[in-house]
Amino acid sequence: MRRDLWRLLGIVLLSVIIGLLIGHTAAALAAGLFFFIARQYLEYAKLLAWLKGRNEAGHPSRVGLVDELCREIQQLRNHYRARNARLSGYLKRFQRATTAIPDAVIILGRFGDIEWANRKAKEYMGIRWPQDNGLRLQNLLRDPGLVDYLGPENRAEALQLDAPVDAAIRLEIRISAYGAARQLLVARDVTGISRNNRVRKDFIANASHELRTPLTVIAGYLESFVDDELCPKEWRAHIQKMRGQTDRMENLIADLLKLSSLEASAGEDIKETVAAPDMLAIICNEVKKTAAYRGHIITIEADPGLYFNGDPRLIYSAFSNLIFNAVQYTPAGGRIDIEWRQDEAGLCFSVRDNGLGIDAAHIPRLTERFYRIDKGRSRAQGGTGLGLAIVKHILVRYGANLQIESEPGKGSVFHCRFPETHAIRADAPALRDSKAAVE
Ligand code: ADP
Repeated sequence: MRRDLWRLLGIVLLSVIIGLLIGHTAAALAAGLFFFIARQYLEYAKLLAWLKGRNEAGHPSRVGLVDELCREIQQLRNHYRARNARLSGYLKRFQRATTAIPDAVIILGRFGDIEWANRKAKEYMGIRWPQDNGLRLQNLLRDPGLVDYLGPENRAEALQLDAPVDAAIRLEIRISAYGAARQLLVARDVTGISRNNRVRKDFIANASHELRTPLTVIAGYLESFVDDELCPKEWRAHIQKMRGQTDRMENLIADLLKLSSLEASAGEDIKETVAAPDMLAIICNEVKKTAAYRGHIITIEADPGLYFNGDPRLIYSAFSNLIFNAVQYTPAGGRIDIEWRQDEAGLCFSVRDNGLGIDAAHIPRLTERFYRIDKGRSRAQGGTGLGLAIVKHILVRYGANLQIESEPGKGSVFHCRFPETHAIRADAPALRDSKAAVE
């Protein structure tokens, strides 16, 4: 910059001297300044051309302010070039890594529009990158289950579906939200796992079916022995015990079959108006006839106009399992309070007892098959260890959840919370009409 000033000073001095010599100082000074400005202008024009042309060889000036500008710009260029090289290295490594991922990965924008997809997304879901960039996933894959799952409210569990490109591939899909309204969809091939599960379920269902018939025959013979006058007295106690064991096995097989059928059909099918308050009264009467009932005080506080929309057999099974457990695991004369109500959270069925209670460590595992806190006690009381697993399966079907609160030695509360879409008001006109028709 100092060079420019010296140059300007030199031109001014030279112009003044020439001006004095020719007797036109002002004109000579004006001409000198014009020369200086024109020269600077040319330097800047060259700089601009250099910038536009990215032509480093055509470096416009080796002196003055423009030269300094050139050097600064060159430094910045070198810096960004190095950064770009680093970034493109990262990008290449990322792309190689995503190609190696064995799952389909798709990044979705706010409206389900595809922002990026890896190679497996094409193999599993037919999503091509970059051809499908910006298209909505819902428009490309019209599976109703997936369209539902893409809605923000249905993401609690992974979704399983047949791959849109090949029905022989079973996919498990998970979506997680991240960043500013973006979503990451990961689809994993679970064909092997799902086949094994099916084989396991089929095996349990078939084995249970096969066992049921011979067991019924044995139970029938034992029953007739017990009633037979000719049966020696000393055999009777043994036969009674055998009869007790066949009862237990029959219960176990019935529960296994119930679980199998719940697993075999995933969705809700039967939708009837279930008079839940009447059903609770019936269950309590039934429970009072069982051996587990030992003079317990059972109360029912049910909203009389609150009916349930669903399969009466399933609801009976869920409610009766919980009430039966409360009686089973509460000492003689204990208290059991049953509630059926609707509140702002939806429908709620609760069973509270002041029985044995459950240690907090067991609570998360109670709905597993055959999980019992005290195996001996459960078996001795005729428990199959499948009751709560059945309850959980039924609740999942109705979009409900099971909450368990308990304190050892003080008692337990089991809450079943259903979405309010299952509520039917008994005073609804349609229901009144159907009741009138029955009467
Ligand atoms: P089971 O046939 O053994 O009762 P469930 O699946 O119904 O099987 O219950 C699993 C276990 O949970 C039971 O073995 C018992 O230990 C515990 N349990 C269930 N309900 C209660 C309750 N109301 N109070 C205490 N323990 C309970």
